[in-house]
Amino acid sequence: MELDRIALNSLPAQGMELTVTSDEVWAKPLGEYGINCRIAEPVSARVFILAQDTGCLIRGDLSGTVVLPCNRCMEDTVVRLAQEFEEFEEYPWAEREPEDTENAVSFMEDGVVFQQDGMPFLDLASLLWEEFSLALPVKPLCRQDCKGLCPVCGKNLNQGDCGCTSEAGDPRLAALRRLKVKRQA
Ligand SMILES: [Zn+2]
Ligand SMILES: [Zn+2]
Repeated sequence: MELDRIALNSLPAQGMELTVTSDEVWAKPLGEYGINCRIAEPVSARVFILAQDTGCLIRGDLSGTVVLPCNRCMEDTVVRLAQEFEEFEEYPWAEREPEDTENAVSFMEDGVVFQQDGMPFLDLASLLWEEFSLALPVKPLCRQDCKGLCPVCGKNLNQGDCGCTSEAGDPRLAALRRLKVKRQA
């Protein structure tokens, strides 16, 4: 089955279930877009597709394990993915209310459902790539209390102090210190 063009009019009326484990869907675009994310445990998705008169329902879940750089210290961070999704992809060519005509154009450009020779198709590969991107944490942390990198020398502060911080001092602490001095005077 070609995951980027599933013929919706040949699906069984009660819908179809399938499991997708293809590297083409996730590993390949990660490489092509140069995204700093490595797949550690195969990503797979269980999908249910139901074609309806005005659109297509796609429901399922996605799981796997990826390695991303920590948002603070850049060290490898293992992230377990477990994302459920449910989308209704409206057919852009289906009848719409008149005020929706403008939206229909942009919808058609990047929609995952499309028409070819008058037949409806679903680009499941694109949809699953989108769900995968949504499942990735925006700011992954190697651990909740990651100390990050020293802004002065760049040392990973999880591995110990670098000595810079005590000299520069935190500006907020400096304000407090001044207060203290004042009170003593
Ligand atoms: Zn970190
Ligand atoms: Zn430092």
